[in-house]
Amino acid sequence: MTIIKVLYVDDEENNLSSFKANFRRLYEIYTANSGAAALDILSQTEVHVVISDQRMPGMTGVELFKKVKKLYPEPIRILLTGYTDIQALAEAINDGDIYRYITKPWNEIELNNSIQNAYDVFRTRRELKEKLAELQKTNDELNRFIYSISHELRAPLASALGVINLAKLDNIYNESEKGNEYWSLMEECCNRLDYNITSTLQYYKNSRYSEVKEDVDFNKVIHDLIAIHKLANTGSEQIKFEINVDQPEKFVGDVFRIEIILGNLISNAIKYQKPEEENKLIQIDVKVNRLVAVVTIIDNGLGILNDHLNRIFNQFFRVHNQKGTGLGLFIVREALAKLEGKISVESVVDSGTKFTIRIPNSA
Ligand code: ADP
Repeated sequence: MTIIKVLYVDDEENNLSSFKANFRRLYEIYTANSGAAALDILSQTEVHVVISDQRMPGMTGVELFKKVKKLYPEPIRILLTGYTDIQALAEAINDGDIYRYITKPWNEIELNNSIQNAYDVFRTRRELKEKLAELQKTNDELNRFIYSISHELRAPLASALGVINLAKLDNIYNESEKGNEYWSLMEECCNRLDYNITSTLQYYKNSRYSEVKEDVDFNKVIHDLIAIHKLANTGSEQIKFEINVDQPEKFVGDVFRIEIILGNLISNAIKYQKPEEENKLIQIDVKVNRLVAVVTIIDNGLGILNDHLNRIFNQFFRVHNQKGTGLGLFIVREALAKLEGKISVESVVDSGTKFTIRIPNSA
């Protein structure tokens, strides 16, 4: 069992001796007859509880504890004081400089209970700190692991897609339609895998990267994202895009996260179209003012059941399960939380879906 180490500070030698006499069998005791002497002991020894008289020449108990809190925040601080020192006491309590105060003259039982309680607090805080450090380490390792795996997987996948393209060209040359169909299926699988890996990387980056604020040109961001996602989704050539960006004001924000958010929403609007729909349409509206950018993305696709609406932002929730990972909207929500933005959704099955997001303008 750990022996509890207590430092007792008082300018009256009599009090120091009686404290020692009362508690020496229970605790490892250190004594100091001034604030300066107490700081000296703390610089050399790790104590668990510091008890100090308030009224001392040179440095009062509260002044000592202010210094102790700054230099050695771990030991729990108990102040001994008379009723007349209420003002100093109230301030010290409000500033969090002391854990507890005991009025003088102290009695043995009360003081002993306070030392025990103070030590419990010391131990709990230390355990919490250790657990937190352990948790942070595991979390870091896990994140790094996810990152390197995802990163490593992308390179061979890109090579496989390159080979598939070569094979398709070869088939066109040899007029083998069946062959081409097989390669197209493989290409789709690889693209899906690539999308899953990209989502994982986006999740990693969103949780790790700090916010970088820069000028955002929504018109450019949206056109670039549409081009990227059209390329990644076969059949998206038939979709008509109507884009309307009203940005009279400068917008400053985290382009990286804004691209993650809009990219996932655009990708979904493309993926969840009705195959039989002849006039596939995606409308994107952006309105920027001094305070906020409001973006709406409307599609006339499959729509989402009312029962599913409050679950689509959950990790791994997906409905049209052959098409995604169930991570996209979860990442959207996480990234928006970092930007202190908001998202809402309205949808009618077989008719379409409307996502509205609001991102604060830091300009
Ligand atoms: P996924 O990777 O499966 O696309 P998301 O988190 O992006 O994951 O979306 C979760 C589910 O919400 C999807 O499986 C899909 O069923 C539904 N969903 C998202 N966006 C749309 C949309 N625009 N139209 C219809 N359904 C959608």
